[in-house]
Amino acid sequence: MSFDPRRLCRPEALATPPYVPGRPGAAVPRVHLASNETPLGPPARALDAARRALAGVNRYPSSDAPALKAALAARHAVAPAQITLGNGSNEALELVARVFLAPGREAVYSQHAFAVYAIVTQVAGATPRVAAPHPPEHARPFGADLDAMARLVGPQTAVVFIANPDNPTGGWNDAAELRRFLETVPSRVVVVVDQAYAEYAAEAGIDYPDAARWLDEFPNLVVTRTFSKLYGLAGLRAGYALSSAETAALFNRVRQPFNANSVAQAAAQAALDDAEHVRAALATNRRGLAQLRAGLDALGLACLPTAANFLCMHAGADAVELCDRLLARGVAVRQLVDYGLPEYLRVTVGLEEENREFLDALAAALEEGA
Ligand SMILES: *Cc1c(COP(=O)(O)O)cnc(C)c1O
Repeated sequence: MSFDPRRLCRPEALATPPYVPGRPGAAVPRVHLASNETPLGPPARALDAARRALAGVNRYPSSDAPALKAALAARHAVAPAQITLGNGSNEALELVARVFLAPGREAVYSQHAFAVYAIVTQVAGATPRVAAPHPPEHARPFGADLDAMARLVGPQTAVVFIANPDNPTGGWNDAAELRRFLETVPSRVVVVVDQAYAEYAAEAGIDYPDAARWLDEFPNLVVTRTFSKLYGLAGLRAGYALSSAETAALFNRVRQPFNANSVAQAAAQAALDDAEHVRAALATNRRGLAQLRAGLDALGLACLPTAANFLCMHAGADAVELCDRLLARGVAVRQLVDYGLPEYLRVTVGLEEENREFLDALAAALEEGA
């Protein structure tokens, strides 16, 4: 008799669909526009700090990371006790699930929302309640319809997940909508606002709220942030949650004691101070978005409004084939079949020459498919 782990495991583990990373496994593309990373490389200051921290990796990291938390507390005008560090903000999302979700409880999120909400909900054995998104004709198509989400909140609901801005659509919820939602949802329900792309949104010239400013008013609010996107540290895994101190104390109980490694802590703190990198990353994104929009427009391809560092473009019925043909030409973008948007592709803003390579490859791939 052989051991079958699939029979012994918790049913939730077997039922959980695996996370599909943006970059396809085996292929090594020349141009990486599939995972919303910054194209500029890591911030110079973060690299220096990481190198220095490497010399001390025989020691355990600081478990409560006072230096990084002090810097983050100053940045967000919160107390250090309101901050929970994670191995990426993914871990912060998982901590929310581990603390607040369980069989018999429900999590509400929007259709097409970030895949991790479904995964952490399933692993916890909780029941997903998936809200219908904005319709295609809406100003922010396929984005989170907060009124529809509020209607799904019931007596069993423990957590609501909102990505603002949203991945993969790039859309956002404005200040009035989000505030109304927080006022509508019963205060016994945890509302997570995932702000992985907040820095880009704040620059986009739109009505974009940093929900962290409402933490005092709404003790049930959890805001997550990451060093993976604008700050260029995706490979080091550093993110965090901002919440009430009481909620953070619960996250602190269930997290692994050394979940934020010492190199990541040092690099993250240095990245926060690298204003030059931040300016360059935002400027590169602004120019790149304009370049991509113009190029896609010239090819007759529409894209959704975005507040982030990527565009969700309508590629039509053969979007997946197109994605494969682009990869064959060395350019990786993200197919969105598993996000329920099979006719769309998500393309991250790259450097000027990467965007150019993508647009040229796209023109050739469209020709090839015609
Ligand atoms: C990329 C992304 C994250 C960040 O994940 P990390 O674990 O911090 O790398 C979180 N939420 C959304 C919506 C994202 O797109």
